[in-house]
Amino acid sequence: MPLELVTIPCLSDNYAWLVHDAATDTTVVIDAPEAAPILHELYARGWKLSHILLTHHHPDHIQGAPMLEAATGARIIGAAADAHRLPPLTEAVEPGDVLRVGMQAVEVIGVPGHTSGHLAYHFAATGLAFTGDSLMGWGCGRIFEGTPAQMFASLERLAELPDATRICAGHEYTLNNGRFALSLEPDHPALMARMAEAQAARAAGRPTLPVPLALERATNPYLRSADPALAAAVGMAGADPLAVFTEIRARKDRF
Ligand code: ZN
Ligand code: FE
Repeated sequence: MPLELVTIPCLSDNYAWLVHDAATDTTVVIDAPEAAPILHELYARGWKLSHILLTHHHPDHIQGAPMLEAATGARIIGAAADAHRLPPLTEAVEPGDVLRVGMQAVEVIGVPGHTSGHLAYHFAATGLAFTGDSLMGWGCGRIFEGTPAQMFASLERLAELPDATRICAGHEYTLNNGRFALSLEPDHPALMARMAEAQAARAAGRPTLPVPLALERATNPYLRSADPALAAAVGMAGADPLAVFTEIRARKDRF
């Protein structure tokens, strides 16, 4: 039986993600920006929350976790390295660990850059990757604690996942990220097509996520820093991909 995925808008532009495995009656939430909308979805569907997976310690990703735990008894799982700044963890994990969630094996991937302890969770059998504020729809998170080289390596690691992997990120930032991408390459057909699609989704009140990794690889400037066309577009023809990435990320901070 396939897993069910539910996108839950929280706060102003965050997403929490529910993954339900009917075969084992297991329900996981990835990130907990606030408890109420998540509890509402659980009650409406008759699902019992079993696990809360946290991507990183920022308040807009964790502040609902204690209330969710109190209401459901779910286990809170997050990075051992950030245990001092996460809600009390039931289970602390490290990059490279494989979590058992019902019958699913969930690969824990270290993706430092936005924060030093940031994790992504990869449900390999179902092709879902929960990336928080690392790889995001058409963009990547701001580099707060890491270096550009760390974020670059984190994104390269995620970009190795299979093409069909659906990327589930922590925010609805796609339109803003897309406007930035188009500011670099205004005439790029794949970028224009993606913008039209994203605008239609938002106009209809739909999330732009999840998004297939293949589309990110084709359109996300932070995954395309080795593309000569993009390097040329930012005046860095022939520069190495990390330098191009660093320049693009810095430009986004000023955008
Ligand atoms: Zn964050
Ligand atoms: Fe965030």
